[in-house]
Amino acid sequence: MNKVVGINEIISYREMCDIENVQTLQRGMNFRLNPDYSVVLMSQRSNAPYNDSINEITGEIEYEGHDVLKKSYDHQPKLEDQLASLPSGKLTQNGKFIEAIKKYTLGKRSPELVKVYEKVFAGVWSLKGIFDLIDYKIVNDGKRFVFKFILKLSSDQKLNTENRDREIEHTRIIPSSVKQEVWKRDGGKCVICGETTNLHFDHDLPYSRGGTSLTSKNVRLLCMKHNLQKSAKVE
Ligand SMILES: [Zn+2]
Repeated sequence: MNKVVGINEIISYREMCDIENVQTLQRGMNFRLNPDYSVVLMSQRSNAPYNDSINEITGEIEYEGHDVLKKSYDHQPKLEDQLASLPSGKLTQNGKFIEAIKKYTLGKRSPELVKVYEKVFAGVWSLKGIFDLIDYKIVNDGKRFVFKFILKLSSDQKLNTENRDREIEHTRIIPSSVKQEVWKRDGGKCVICGETTNLHFDHDLPYSRGGTSLTSKNVRLLCMKHNLQKSAKVE
């Protein structure tokens, strides 16, 4: 059986591939990677190749479309408009996402479910959440036209099968900058025992009791054991 990953749990690149049943995840956009959903990888690190943003209050993501990489010496993908299809007519990943949005807005289907994984640092990943793909726009980024896909935190959490009550608390979005700060401050270790595997970003004061995700002061790294011990105490 596949490992089920919780939101704000910290996983390695390999664990992420195992969860999704693939050898590698080389593309950022993976339409229908699994029969029920798509997968995208995002990063808000300063050196990230694409400009993704998230409204931490509404949980809405603007996910930048991806470039088509050609094997050509004079090809400058960052200066070329992003494409929905290739000259052959074959849809790019952008094009597949757009098709799903069009069907959804025409009322022909429910929104495509998208699992969003976030790269916090090299080798440090976490599941941002399950989102609905609801809209897109085409914007000029100053050099060329790019797609921006709009993803909204999904109320359909059927993909989260693990312990739903505990999950609700963890569903609250922790901003990337807070995750980066907490990871550095806590040295990539459980703050109680120093464990370096199976870590979670934990709300010190639970969200349900008024704790916030928006400052690193209320977020810390806990191993699975201490995270579970804490949940048991709170209940
Ligand atoms: Zn611990």
